[in-house]
Amino acid sequence: MAVKKISIAGAGLVGSLLGVYLSRRGYEVNIFERRPDFRKNGAYGGRSINLALSNRGLRALREVGLEEAMRSKAIPMHGRQVHPLKGSGGFFPYGKEGEYINSISRSGLNEVLMDAAEQHGVKIHFEARMNHVSISQTEFSWTDRNGKTATEQTDILIGADGAFSAVRQAMQASDRFDFSQSYIEHGYKELTIPPAEDGSFRLDKNALHIWPRESYMLIALPNPDGSFTCTLFFPFEGPVSFEKLKSDEAITDFFKNVFPDVFEIMPDLLKDFRENPASSLVTMRCYPWVKNKTMLIGDAAHAIVPFYGQGMNAGFEDCRVLNELLDTFKDDWNLMLPEYQRLRKPAGDSIAQLALNNFIEMRDLVADPDFILQKKIEGKIHSLFPDKWIPLYSMVTFRDDIPYATALETGRRQQQIMHEVLKKPGIQSDWEQLDFASIVSKLN
Ligand code: FAD
Repeated sequence: MAVKKISIAGAGLVGSLLGVYLSRRGYEVNIFERRPDFRKNGAYGGRSINLALSNRGLRALREVGLEEAMRSKAIPMHGRQVHPLKGSGGFFPYGKEGEYINSISRSGLNEVLMDAAEQHGVKIHFEARMNHVSISQTEFSWTDRNGKTATEQTDILIGADGAFSAVRQAMQASDRFDFSQSYIEHGYKELTIPPAEDGSFRLDKNALHIWPRESYMLIALPNPDGSFTCTLFFPFEGPVSFEKLKSDEAITDFFKNVFPDVFEIMPDLLKDFRENPASSLVTMRCYPWVKNKTMLIGDAAHAIVPFYGQGMNAGFEDCRVLNELLDTFKDDWNLMLPEYQRLRKPAGDSIAQLALNNFIEMRDLVADPDFILQKKIEGKIHSLFPDKWIPLYSMVTFRDDIPYATALETGRRQQQIMHEVLKKPGIQSDWEQLDFASIVSKLN
């Protein structure tokens, strides 16, 4: 199939990056984005204000020459700063010296990617909502800001239109298409810790802050202006939930009791709480990702909960792998498309599972002495046998050469081994006497 013209639904993070990759290969790329151009009107309608960008995402950005531009706008976060309600918290590094994740503004990142796509010749059509899609004809209709509808044919159609993808919905209407979605009982609400009066950060800026409270949690990521964007992950319903925090008094009492240190530094709590929505969190799985000459990428193919900070990173990895496969198959899309979904579907499923598992770790385990000890032991083993035992978090976050599926499976086996190790009597005080070589040998 001679492919010249590629149409992408969605100029979000993934659609824009993919536009850069494909236009660099010489394709004629058109992106249809339902929102107005936020670079002109300043109103970014995306979810969450900032994101954690890590190695998988950075690798893709490096390939298209945007890594340095991003790093210069990002704030490194070297570890978690845990703030328990009782007892002492502490700082827990994410990885080895020099390993960190990056807090970056979602709109800033999207802007750089859209600019780069346009510089490479991509045409982004704004206020252009893709609606009807014909998979058999590789044809779609889109509606402009005046409600006028046009129909176009294309050689390849790519759905990068997020969790509620219109392109995927068209696939769902076709035969033999699997789809599932599952909401968790928690939603999220964004709140702000503003800069101090002198403009400085009110908390350590080089950490991701967590206030774990067992069944829910608050986190905070730094912004370049000295503020922190906080996200409260909280049940929608139940005895401690959004539905119970309706009055100013209830909100104030709750924060004073449960997050007293945050309450002191969050002057706009009530305004933020009232104005910012409680948004839901969903995992969506589907298959196939390719039908005829239409394919899915990013959240359209695999929407996941945000607890590993990997949704965007996984979407960027989709783009990188797709580009590599185009190299391998010399731009033969007939050969490339099946291979793309063969490789990426397990990646999507694995990171979806890892993200669900990590919620429990973040909201509950980070304050648990056994968990903290396990991290210490694994850190020691990793320093002694760096290639043989890589902690799960590092495999997912810092090793862009390890597939998510391998990380999930290896992590499971490591967890079983560590479970036994932690049962040893006196382990809290004697852990440094462990036979680390024999622990590692169990992984083989
Ligand atoms: P989206 O960002 O959803 O973009 C889709 C685009 O398609 C949008 O611009 C939309 O307007 C457009 N669109 C939709 N329908 C149509 C249509 N019919 N026609 C035309 N255009 C359409 N990931 C990380 O890697 N690190 C993090 O720290 C992180 N934190 C997160 C925190 C929260 C609270 C949430 C909710 C998510 C987080 N994620 C994180 C996940 C990340 O936001 C997503 O994985 C990422 O945005 C996916 O990019 P995308 O381009 O595939 O989809």
